[in-house]
Amino acid sequence: MKSTMQDAQLTVGRILTHAVAVHPTSEVLTATENGLRSATFAEVGERATRLAAALRGLGIDGDQRIGTFLWNTQEHLEAYVGVPAMGAVLHTINIRISNEQLVYVVNHAEDKIVLVQDTLLDILGPVLDQMKTVEHVVVVGPDAAVAIAGLAPRHFQAHEYEGLLSAAASTFEWPEVNERDAAVLCYTSGTTGDPKGVAYSHRSVYLHAMACSMADGFDIGGNDRVLPVVPMFHANAWGMPYTAMMVGAALVLPDRFMQSDQLVRLVERSHATIAGGVPTIWSDMVARVRTHGGDLSSLRVVFGGGSAVAVGLQRAMRDVCGVYMLQAWGMTETSPTALVSWPPYPEDHPAHWALRAKQGRLMNLVEARIVDDAGVELSRDGRAIGEIEVRGPYVTGSYYRVEAPDRFDDGWLRTGDLGTIDEIGFVSISDRAKDMIKSGGEWISSVDLESAIVGHPAVREAAVIAIPDPRWEERPMGVVALVDGATASPDELRGHLATQFAKWQVPDAWTFVDQVPRTSVGKYDKKRLRQMHADGAFGPDSDVVISAEESPAPDRDRA
Ligand code: AMP
Repeated sequence: MKSTMQDAQLTVGRILTHAVAVHPTSEVLTATENGLRSATFAEVGERATRLAAALRGLGIDGDQRIGTFLWNTQEHLEAYVGVPAMGAVLHTINIRISNEQLVYVVNHAEDKIVLVQDTLLDILGPVLDQMKTVEHVVVVGPDAAVAIAGLAPRHFQAHEYEGLLSAAASTFEWPEVNERDAAVLCYTSGTTGDPKGVAYSHRSVYLHAMACSMADGFDIGGNDRVLPVVPMFHANAWGMPYTAMMVGAALVLPDRFMQSDQLVRLVERSHATIAGGVPTIWSDMVARVRTHGGDLSSLRVVFGGGSAVAVGLQRAMRDVCGVYMLQAWGMTETSPTALVSWPPYPEDHPAHWALRAKQGRLMNLVEARIVDDAGVELSRDGRAIGEIEVRGPYVTGSYYRVEAPDRFDDGWLRTGDLGTIDEIGFVSISDRAKDMIKSGGEWISSVDLESAIVGHPAVREAAVIAIPDPRWEERPMGVVALVDGATASPDELRGHLATQFAKWQVPDAWTFVDQVPRTSVGKYDKKRLRQMHADGAFGPDSDVVISAEESPAPDRDRA
């Protein structure tokens, strides 16, 4: 029997038209050097319409890719909705990856147009020559004209965003878009090898935003004021922008002002009620509030994710900042949010904190299982440890134009995370199978570092392991065996890496060994190396230098 229901495509355009029609007065606040600027959903909708008209004028008439190289701002939000709604594909480019990866992702996505923040043109400008598909560079921000003047004539045309918008029509005939077509393309550096593209469909964006809005997701409603500190260039800012627009919640966007002082002021001024960011952001906030005070009382819940969120941090957020903090887990491949650790028991229940240490329970529409090395499913008893695999309509089933059969298992995505699932569905991650390091929320590839380090003539063997760091969660450490009779200092090795890696990806800590220990199958035994480090076997970490000033803050220190 056929249903009698009407049909409608679940598209980003539908999120936009609903936001404008039903929540026209909801606000979008963006931090500036001198306070906040504000626009309504109606204004954002009008500007997104003009953006679509302007992009059409520049030749976008299908699923061409539009790159964005932008902070969390109103203009980025305009592209988030306007580009997919016109049938084109929004490619959010991570501003923190190395120049080599930057060139790779733009060329691989074949971006035709890139929207770039005026303050970020100094990063993108020097590599634009290697991005041959880019025909137009649109510079966003008050200093767009100055930034453009600094660009030498090249194979593309440069435009000011505001100029394009004011010259564009204020109406646009939004096309019928198929919900299964690509809406947004995000590259992840979370696997070995080149970054891999995950193409979200309109439908997956829509379903993910709905799941995020639910009470066991991010619990976002129309009265909320949502502050995604997590960048809009990393996994769709966890889906928060689309979710907020879907339900009429105000959005509070920090632009580049993400130091703890600036974020505390932003919360005080915007009265944000919900926020999300990597643990480093929140541990910096705790330190700031502890020393200088700050009123974060408007926040009813903040979500930490991207790396494990220690119970100690959750307690410190409560005790020092008066803020309820929960953990979320996800991957670029899962849209990204898939687990949230809402505890089923009150705080005085003996299991409460043990559950908050876990990554959480599945959001609606995602399934998970754990499997052993042979691919056999393990029991959900909270003890058996295996690789976590997930599937669902907002989990990717492949990567864009790259074969990666080893990442999938009979319709399930292999997450590369190891952990348990307990009887009440809480997933806990205990280790990572993928040979990657996550520092301040961004990836560093051990394998890439190792092959670059052995490229130094004095080096015979090199392994790179993740070591715990109080601020960045993890930092890379180089474990090096030198060629007999050769010498090389940590500084020399760092200098050797400087041209190939962003500065924050280069190891601070190094240790020199006669031989790097190996497993029975001849691979570097990183588990053992991590244990040796934990046991202090490498002595006082040769060179661990991470001061506040000289921090590897990904947004500042780039190659
Ligand atoms: P990305 O695709 O860059 O967002 O990275 C996804 C990966 O980050 C996951 O596969 C995990 O390894 C890690 N991750 C994300 N959230 C958490 C969390 N709450 N706890 C532990 N690891 C996490």
